[in-house]
Amino acid sequence: MRSGKKVLITGAGIGGLTTALRLAKKGYQVEIIEKNSQAGGRLNQIKTGGFTFDTGPSFFSMSYEFEEFARDCNIDVPFKFIKLDPLYAVNIKDDPTTYFLYRDIRKLAGQFSDIEPDFEEKMEKYLKKSGQIFHDTVGIVIKSNFDSLFDYVTALMRVNPAHLPVLSRTFYQQVKLYFSSWQVRQIISLVAFFLGRTPFDTMGIYTLLSYTEFRHDGYYNVEGGMYAIVEGLVRELEKENVKIIYNTEITGYNGRRGRLEALTDSEGQRWHADIFVSNADAALFRGSVLKRRKYSPERLDRKSWTMGYLTIYLGLNFKLPGIHHHHYFLGTNFEEYSGNVMKNPTILQKPYYYVNLMSANNPDCAPPGCESLFIVCPVPNLMYKPDWQDAGDIADSIIRDLGERTGRDIFPGIVSRTVYTPLDWQEKFNLYRGSGLGLSHNMSQIGALRPANFDEEFRNLFYVGASTVPGAGLPMSIIGSKLAVERILKI
Ligand SMILES: Cc1cc2nc3c(=O)[nH]c(=O)nc-3n(C[C@H](O)[C@H](O)[C@H](O)COP(=O)(O)OP(=O)(O)OC[C@H]3O[C@@H](n4cnc5c(N)ncnc54)[C@H](O)[C@@H]3O)c2cc1C
Repeated sequence: MRSGKKVLITGAGIGGLTTALRLAKKGYQVEIIEKNSQAGGRLNQIKTGGFTFDTGPSFFSMSYEFEEFARDCNIDVPFKFIKLDPLYAVNIKDDPTTYFLYRDIRKLAGQFSDIEPDFEEKMEKYLKKSGQIFHDTVGIVIKSNFDSLFDYVTALMRVNPAHLPVLSRTFYQQVKLYFSSWQVRQIISLVAFFLGRTPFDTMGIYTLLSYTEFRHDGYYNVEGGMYAIVEGLVRELEKENVKIIYNTEITGYNGRRGRLEALTDSEGQRWHADIFVSNADAALFRGSVLKRRKYSPERLDRKSWTMGYLTIYLGLNFKLPGIHHHHYFLGTNFEEYSGNVMKNPTILQKPYYYVNLMSANNPDCAPPGCESLFIVCPVPNLMYKPDWQDAGDIADSIIRDLGERTGRDIFPGIVSRTVYTPLDWQEKFNLYRGSGLGLSHNMSQIGALRPANFDEEFRNLFYVGASTVPGAGLPMSIIGSKLAVERILKI
């Protein structure tokens, strides 16, 4: 037990909360400073007019990372999760079929018998390769700390060289090797969007995600909505006397001789501690709070950031037919759309989007007979579309399209409507340029090339969250908390 040492964590996102509990359980005295009035970061909740909405994440993979975290902290997982099968449903414009992404490959194959002969055999081969990539990299690259570039390169050399050709391919090119119909290629490569980019600019090695979806552990929903994760963690933190100070934004620092002494908030108050952890974006924090030249706005703009999201939270006074709990609505120009969605605002005239029908699995999220849903539409981040005055029109076009595709005009039944543009995401959670998932996961921004989880100058400052190692997504932040705590325990 390391009692007595005080740790100050900036940010109550999933990375901050899980780091706090791990450290509190080791005897540290932990405090969290959060700029918003409630915990969770992107994993947040809106309550309005009798409706409840999760703001961002709607499911998670790698449930065993939550279980490992709970074991490490000597607690039960503080929320209930439910396996999803089918994983999600997909509709392609002008095609009346709804494709269900079953984990049972034979059942999945049944839906593609007309368009993709031998689907089952092809999918087995594809998943075998994705599985090999997953198992050959997860321990070596994803769940490891690297002290230097040399360490990282040495680790990479241990990865099976049979995967080298995949490194030269994009996600879509890798999928294309196995499947011939455009529908299957598009549907299988949708998971690349979960990394905040498109299948055409995501590395082929990330086809390992298909293995995690279909073969390994699948996807999970949370009973009561995703925010139950945050509520459960906050309950556990309260038991450990971890204090969360809300409505307080860190803007500056004091440090000398390689030690951070205090952080300063926007009101000028100083926050002292022995050890500091930033759950604020690891690149932006170095730039905006620590004023590092390497992370100046110009240098940050030269990095590769993930796309933005337009999110629409709708409370309806009727039950919407034909929508499944997780449902993707695609257009007819996937390749052109993907080529444009990162940078070209005009593409939003024909949006692709994802619908999460929260009230399907969690009836308490909406009054009786009503529906609570949210829509996520990938859009250019603020680097490419700084002006969002047209957000209302874009949201209208999505809601209209959803109505046409479900056969019911949605507008008259809307009793609650909230829209977040990348400007809101930036403003609420300090997401650089409104980028939804932080730094992209390309070759030059992963592993030891991502902003490190230890500070370059202050030996008592560490980082956790989407833009440091290992990367974006809830399970990655939990792995990140383990990696950061491993480092803290050594000092
Ligand atoms: C629309 C959307 C959908 C998503 N869907 C999924 C999904 O289905 N499954 C999944 O696994 N992942 C999903 N993600 C990704 C997931 O939400 C993130 O990867 C994860 O929540 C990031 O957690 P984090 O630990 O980096 O912290 P964050 O959520 O970024 O939290 C950081 C916290 O720090 C606070 N903060 C920042 N700067 C300061 C400061 N200077 N002072 C004080 N406080 C500060 C912020 O307010 C915030 O509360 C989605 C993301 C989005 C945006």
